Amino acid sequence: MRERSRDLFERSLALIPGGVNSPVRAFASVGGTPVFFREGRGARLTDVDGHEYIDYVGSWGPLILGHAHPEVVAAVTAAAQKGLSFGAPTELELEMAELLTRALPSLEQVRLVSSGTEAVMSALRLARGFTGRSLLVKFEGCYHGHSDFLLVKAGSGALTFGHPTSAGVPPELAAQTLVLPYNDPAAVVEVFARHPDQIAGIVLEPIAGNMNFVRPSMEFLRTLREQCTKHGALLVFDEVMTGFRVGAGSAQGLFGITPDLTTLGKVIGGGMPVGAFGGRRDVMAKLAPLGPVYQAGTLSGNPVAVSAGLATLKRVLEPGFFDKLGRATKSLVEGLVREAKAAGIPFSGDSEGAMFGLFFRASPPASFAEVMQSDREAFNRFFHAMLDRGVYLAPSAYEAGFVSSAHGPADFEATFAAARQAFAAPR
Ligand code: PLP
Repeated sequence: MRERSRDLFERSLALIPGGVNSPVRAFASVGGTPVFFREGRGARLTDVDGHEYIDYVGSWGPLILGHAHPEVVAAVTAAAQKGLSFGAPTELELEMAELLTRALPSLEQVRLVSSGTEAVMSALRLARGFTGRSLLVKFEGCYHGHSDFLLVKAGSGALTFGHPTSAGVPPELAAQTLVLPYNDPAAVVEVFARHPDQIAGIVLEPIAGNMNFVRPSMEFLRTLREQCTKHGALLVFDEVMTGFRVGAGSAQGLFGITPDLTTLGKVIGGGMPVGAFGGRRDVMAKLAPLGPVYQAGTLSGNPVAVSAGLATLKRVLEPGFFDKLGRATKSLVEGLVREAKAAGIPFSGDSEGAMFGLFFRASPPASFAEVMQSDREAFNRFFHAMLDRGVYLAPSAYEAGFVSSAHGPADFEATFAAARQAFAAPR
């Protein structure tokens, strides 16, 4: 059915490890051959064999206005015609800093980088440099990019030292990262009791989107804020995914919790490589060239990339943008849950703003352990049944989904019709 995709994948396998430039693209989790795309317009993707798909991946989050939004394309084109990169300050970067600091009051200062990985890596180096401490705390199931000390998962106990998830990460480095269960306030209190004056910072996804979709409890968030303040550690919200995706004020605005540092990516680049980290002025003052914490980038604040981000954010920050998009996303999830219920399949869903989760279990999960209890085989069958009916979901049971402002009722109706057939397919 997708012969050209298969052919291109075969050829890629010979030259590119696993045939892909980022592992989750390889369909390793769901099986089968990845789809090669040639074009995207609005909510739709076209593959190299000419099949069309309704896209709920949105390049893993950045494309909140849909593919090739005319204003974003125009901004990129105009910027490119003036020069691709200067390696010197531009007015566009200032405009981006003004926009981000206005939208997120916790950002007193901000610095641009070129990826989410860089943003989190730099923010946590800064947390260590500011506090003079080495230990970091992260949560099981949260992903913060592929820098060494963040590729760490939990051992079996709640408070064990982490083990590296990837070969090539020295155990001594992984041991500096403590891993706790998400949504467990008691574990947060306990980790500070065990390691007094040693924890530089705690990093989390304030809605977890890398173990499908897991909401934080308010008690969890409040405990994090209180404990970090009490013990002189920095609270770092990794909003690379949730930033300008779950609301105009991002997750921190939604929950009314002020982090010390925030990391951003995805939507702020509108499909081009832009990341950012920022927060308290006294903390940011430790960065080079003002302070002793080094961080840099040849292409940081690149004018073409920043232009795409600015054009995207200008739309996203218009009043009412998230009211409409949030309602649309909710209606998508409700419709899918309705179809599953009609087919007698244990299934649930959740959403916030334009980010959603679909779960092959009776209720939304609150922890990594509960995520793991969902029926992965059922998801994999559903994924392929939907793909064959022209609906492109993330190729893993453990990823959140994304809706864009280009999705409309016709896309949702077509998605429900596909889901009706997919849920009815023999198991
Ligand atoms: N942090 C979070 C929460 C993410 O979801 C991601 C990517 O999915 C990253 C960091 C890493 O961002 P990037 O892939 O741009 O390096």
